[in-house]
This record gives sequence, C-alpha cells and structure tokens, in this order.
Amino acid sequence: MNQNDFERIQERLGGVSRRDFMKICSSLAATMALSTTVAPEIASAITSPSRPPVIWLHGSECTGCSMSLLRAEHPSLEKLIFDMISMDFHETLSAGAGHQAEEALYKSVSENAGKFILVVEGAVPLKNDGIFCRIAGHNFVDTVKEIGDKAGAVIAIGSCAAWGGVAAMDPNPTGCVGVNEVLSRTQVVSLPGCPPNPYNLLSTIIHYLTFKKLPALDDENRPTFAYGRLIHEHCERRPHFDNGRFARKFGDDGHRQGYCLYYLGCKGPVTYANCSTSQFGDAGSGCWPVGIGHPCFGCAEKGVGFNVPQFTTSPVLHATPAAGHAPISVERGEGASAGSAALMAGAVGAAIGAGVVFTAKLGGKESGNENKEA
Ligand code: SF4
Repeated sequence: MNQNDFERIQERLGGVSRRDFMKICSSLAATMALSTTVAPEIASAITSPSRPPVIWLHGSECTGCSMSLLRAEHPSLEKLIFDMISMDFHETLSAGAGHQAEEALYKSVSENAGKFILVVEGAVPLKNDGIFCRIAGHNFVDTVKEIGDKAGAVIAIGSCAAWGGVAAMDPNPTGCVGVNEVLSRTQVVSLPGCPPNPYNLLSTIIHYLTFKKLPALDDENRPTFAYGRLIHEHCERRPHFDNGRFARKFGDDGHRQGYCLYYLGCKGPVTYANCSTSQFGDAGSGCWPVGIGHPCFGCAEKGVGFNVPQFTTSPVLHATPAAGHAPISVERGEGASAGSAALMAGAVGAAIGAGVVFTAKLGGKESGNENKEA
C-alpha cells in the first residue's frame, strides 16, 4: 500500500492513522484465521480504487441481518466496507424505489456479470411455484436463480438464507429452503445466525477481494474461520461449567452469579460459531446472548436453532477443551499463570465438567435447585 492509497482511505475514514489502519487489517487477518503477515495484502485490497459491485436481495425474512450489519460499529469498519464495495442494490436501504430501482438492479447485473457479489438474506419459498414471496412481479425463487447464476460469488446471510431458518420451521407452510437448494452453483457461502455476526460477512467479502477466492468452507459451506469451533469451547462461562456451577432457573442465585447456563437449555455445546469470541454489536465485552444471561439457542446450527426446544439440554458430544479462559477456581497469586491455568482447564476441567453434567443427568438431578454440583 503506497502513501497515495493510504491518503485516499484516510480521507474516507475520517483521519484514522496509518498505524491504526494496519492494526485493523491485522485484526481482519486474525479473524480469518490467517497470519498477520497478509495484512499488507488486505490493506491493498481495501484501498483499491476499484470497488466490486454487491447486490443484496431479500426473501422470506425479517431484515434482522441487514440491521445487524448496520449496527457494526467497530472503528470505521462499516465505513470501510461501504467505501470498499459498491452496494448497487439493497431493497431496504436503496433510496430509489419501484421501476427505477429494478432498472438499477438489472443494469448492474448485466454490466457486472461474473464479477458482482450476490448477498441473499432470507429463505426461498418453493411451494406453489414460490408465489409466497413475490417482488416486483417476480417470484423470489426465479429472481435468485436468474441473478445467482450470473454472480461471481453468492453469500447466503443468516439462518433463513442458509437453510430456511425460522421461515422453514415445522410445518413450513410455504416450503421455504436455503439458497443452496435453489442455485446450481456448488459453492454458496453460508453465514448462518439469527442474526449472523456482521464481521463474518465483512471478513468473507474482504477475503474474496484480497485473495480472489472464497475462504475455506466446512461441510455446510460455512467459513471455517468463523464456524470451525464450538461456542462452548470459548465461552466466558466455561470455567463454571468445568467446575460444576450452574444456573438452574432464570433469576436464581447461580444466574445472578453468572454461572453456566447449560441447565437453562444452552446450545453452546452443539453449536459451531464464533459468537463467544467475536460477540455482537460492539456494545462492549460480554455483549452476546450468553454474556447477558440468556442461553444460546443454537441459531447458527442447522437442526438445532428453531428445531430443538429452548429448555432441552444439549448432549455434550465431545469433552472439548476450554480454549480461552482461566478456570475461575484458580485464585490470584497461586502461582498458576492464566495460560497454564487455561491449559489445565483444557486437559482436566472439561472432562470433569462434562462428567459432572452427565453424572447429574443420570442421577436425575436436572430439576434440582442446587446451583453447584457436588
Ligand atoms: Fe457457555 Fe453454554 Fe457452554 Fe455453559 S453450556 S459454558 S453457558 S456455552
């Protein structure tokens, strides 16, 4: 990135220093599970004067994913993304409406065929030829097929677009499915969540811009940098799980103390997502459902969110190590560093915690009022 490039981005971002800008690029590299040595490449892609067109379509959904993106307040990052891309069409943000907006949509599609990024928010109804979601005289399923086949990359944002989400809940009267089931292309990137973390979208787009290819994906077409680990592994309440301290009812002593929410139906042990590390909305540390006292309901996991009742306890299939937090039982000055304590938790605590949970379940203690397992 030369000085001219930086001055251009500095003007857009309202005076951010070069050092801070490179820090943002390094953070983005870390978010994508890449070495920070790729930060200059990311900086170069971000400061490139050519802005790739993005077309954003809405299907059967609530627009919560768009709202989530608009709430991204990481220093200047939302400015960065909106200055870095050309948001040619977004049904709920576009100033234009009616025929003019539709003309702008199809003009961008024809001029940028094979180059634009299509973001789809919402499920696609298929029943009765898709009549249950009809925009500008077209059934949504037909629009997704027509525009999706011309896109350079397709991103299904939110659980509804990823696999149907809330729109496809039993009995799914409109026959909603995810974008993956409609498009012929094999690689539709799925970013499930209700809403998804906006930084996962930003990081996916930046990866595509920087390396001209999509990030590594798992079996569900989710980027592994964001969906590669269980929420339970990095949860801030994990030391309580490992030490057998649980909330049993909303508002009880354990809940007020910030204990583990497993018995309130937390789906963190079966949900792959980075909510516990990336959190939401930049409202401060702990700003995510578990952080504010609500059990994870598995919105990012197909077959869990919107399917398994909230108060059903999850199986702990793998006694995975806690990766990010020292056990709360370790007192200051005991001689164990945070790192070694975290390793201890990983090696021993997880197994103990899971063992305690299973012992309690087998012993029928689930409905007991004790907050701490003996
Ligand atoms: Fe966190 Fe839920 Fe796991 Fe408890 S069960 S440690 S609240 S993810």
